[in-house]
Amino acid sequence: MAANRRLGTAKQAALNRFRKRMQDASCIFCRIVRGEIPCSKVYEDEQVLAFLDIHPIAPVHFLLIPKEHVPTLSEARAVHEAVLGKMMGLAPRLAREQGADDGFRLIVNTGRVGRQEVLHVHMHVLGGKEPLGSMLPRPKT
Ligand code: 5GP
Ligand code: ZN
Repeated sequence: MAANRRLGTAKQAALNRFRKRMQDASCIFCRIVRGEIPCSKVYEDEQVLAFLDIHPIAPVHFLLIPKEHVPTLSEARAVHEAVLGKMMGLAPRLAREQGADDGFRLIVNTGRVGRQEVLHVHMHVLGGKEPLGSMLPRPKT
């Protein structure tokens, strides 16, 4: 029993060391993951964190991130597919819980053209009671 507990503690310590390696010291979202910067948490598990966007642009606006530091979706690899899929799977449930119960929008700004500002992969989950504005202004014809 005591041996099992010791093994559990050693495993946890190894996991913490692994996590530390997987995080970027200066990345603002990694700092949120580590609890160095506060956030309004919506959901958390071993791989994923969701928290309210600090500057919301819709009545419901939260961010879903992998705890591992992956700068952009372009840099995600096959090994990240599981966590990215998990984030997609969580989005509808969390959106509903936050009050977006009749649809929502997922946005993953990626790289320069995508105007990604925080270089740690994140999904914006946006919604509310009323339909959102158009995705991008359509050129006039
Ligand atoms: P991006 O333009 O990179 O897709 O979006 C980054 C988002 O992160 C923005 O909507 C911005 O408001 C949000 N954000 C930036 N810094 C913080 C922070 O310290 N806390 C929280 N909760 N959101 C942040
Ligand atoms: Zn990061």
